[in-house]
Amino acid sequence: MRKYKMCYKCQLKPVYEFTNKRRVCKTCYIRWFEKKVLYTIRKFNLLKKGDIVGYSQKNDFRSVVLEAILKMLAKNGRIEVMKLDSSLVHKKEGGLKITKLAVPSTTDLESYQVVSEILYGDIENLNRLKPLDKKTIKPLYLFLDKEVELYANLRGLDFKRYKKQKDKVSSFIDELEKSHPEIKRSIINGLFE
Ligand SMILES: [Zn+2]
Repeated sequence: MRKYKMCYKCQLKPVYEFTNKRRVCKTCYIRWFEKKVLYTIRKFNLLKKGDIVGYSQKNDFRSVVLEAILKMLAKNGRIEVMKLDSSLVHKKEGGLKITKLAVPSTTDLESYQVVSEILYGDIENLNRLKPLDKKTIKPLYLFLDKEVELYANLRGLDFKRYKKQKDKVSSFIDELEKSHPEIKRSIINGLFE
């Protein structure tokens, strides 16, 4: 008898189980992740040929994955990427030659922000919480934090672990997620309905 339920595609040992109970092995997970990034870019029109995409280099798991993904995209020559000095990122983009600014935001962070805006902020701001806002793009928008972190681990990317910043809203949503595993995706999907 098998100890694990195996990868649904190739019957190897699984590294992840989706909420629909499908399990995938390392190779299939990496392939799924990279295809989903491309899907996100197409679905939300995040990039066009010739874009110069700036990003800020940091050492948390989201930032190292964003950098790896941007470099993967630059390899096919349709876009260029530019590492920005972090002091430049906060200035107005006036002097920079970038056409897009990529930020490492995930479904987790976006769902916290949506709920915070609804509870304490301004509904008008919800429009800014989309994967494309003027020049800002969020290629990791459709991924949960745990999915981004797993990708970083499986690809052997070097990152530093920081303690998660908790506040009332994020604690509440994380708690809800235990009984409603799709809650974060549902919250951000609400923006598009
Ligand atoms: Zn597999």
